[in-house]
Amino acid sequence: MDLAPYTTLRLGGPARAVIEARTEEELVEAASDPGVVLLAGGSNVVVADAGVDATVARVLTRGVAVEEDAEHVRLRVAAGEPWDDLVARCVADGLVGVECLAGIPGSTGATPIQNVGAYGQEVADTLAAVRVLDRRTGEVTELGPEDCGFGYRTSAFKRAPGRWVVLEVVLRLRRGAEGTPIRYAELARSLGVRPGERARLADVRDAVLALRRGKGMVLDPGDHDTWSAGSFFTNPFVDPAALPDGAPAFAQPDGTVKTSAAWLIERAGFRRGYGDPAGIAISSKHTLALTNRGDGTTAALVALAREIAAGVRERFGVVLEPEPVFLGLAWLG
Ligand SMILES: Cc1cc2nc3c(=O)[nH]c(=O)nc-3n(C[C@H](O)[C@H](O)[C@H](O)COP(=O)(O)OP(=O)(O)OC[C@H]3O[C@@H](n4cnc5c(N)ncnc54)[C@H](O)[C@@H]3O)c2cc1C
Repeated sequence: MDLAPYTTLRLGGPARAVIEARTEEELVEAASDPGVVLLAGGSNVVVADAGVDATVARVLTRGVAVEEDAEHVRLRVAAGEPWDDLVARCVADGLVGVECLAGIPGSTGATPIQNVGAYGQEVADTLAAVRVLDRRTGEVTELGPEDCGFGYRTSAFKRAPGRWVVLEVVLRLRRGAEGTPIRYAELARSLGVRPGERARLADVRDAVLALRRGKGMVLDPGDHDTWSAGSFFTNPFVDPAALPDGAPAFAQPDGTVKTSAAWLIERAGFRRGYGDPAGIAISSKHTLALTNRGDGTTAALVALAREIAAGVRERFGVVLEPEPVFLGLAWLG
């Protein structure tokens, strides 16, 4: 059976077999075969048209356990729990720390893999522990955030593909009526507060969802702008001397600057909507999202992504790296 329906791009051919892991025991058993590939929400993967020459295990475990003390609430969340539902529950229960991460599709277990982030928060801010299976040793252990090697859209898990299986994520959240201080200027503007000020939890979630909808970043089966893997490229880190004139720059502790992939792509001549209106095209709402307009193929997606990366490299000398994980094919951009 094709994997396309299990991905948000709705692209990709068959696996050798598909296992549905609904309990932790089933997940551990499936993953004990080193050849088995994990797939959860399918919102950060690009699957080859020819499929994947491996068995795919779908992460469908469920369960949220709550532990409380006077100040904090710890949520022990099974890997397969849908992340956006968890955020909605936290906001409804007055738990602070993940409200800006509303609307991110996929599973809770995948959030530490690329340290998901948006609108000034990332999961590393509230993650207390991750229970993992180390497929090299067969051991199940609990890792603290210091062991996870978190960085911008990366982690120790992403750097060692195939080694770790996230079984549970433990979040440490504070009780409160207001969210964490707003760090993202666009979000502050839409909430009518200054950066660094706070706003009511539910208002933050609503504002984030509204901003994301405007960019096609909330899944909607009827809207092809959301048939994507989210941002296709990460924002690049460059030497300040190599920063293109006028490009946004966010200074980093290591002396590099982070710049905007969307800015570079637009200035290299790739506008929203660029591509095949019936196949693969840049989203009409967001320069960083490559979307399937209905008749797309993975080959066309990768060809457009490579064209964009080559255009940016030629124009600015900056190398763009893809954010999603490739299954059954290599990026070679
Ligand atoms: C419309 C849209 C908007 C998005 N917006 C954002 C955003 O704002 N910020 C952001 O950071 N990301 C964003 N993303 C990307 C994506 O949603 C996240 O990366 C998400 O965490 C992926 O979860 P998933 O369950 O879909 O993972 P999948 O796509 O199923 O898997 C991704 C990778 O993680 C591995 N994996 C999955 N589960 C596990 C597990 N339990 N243990 C070990 N490995 C595992 C898979 O093998 C694969 O390598 C967006 C995507 C879309 C489609």
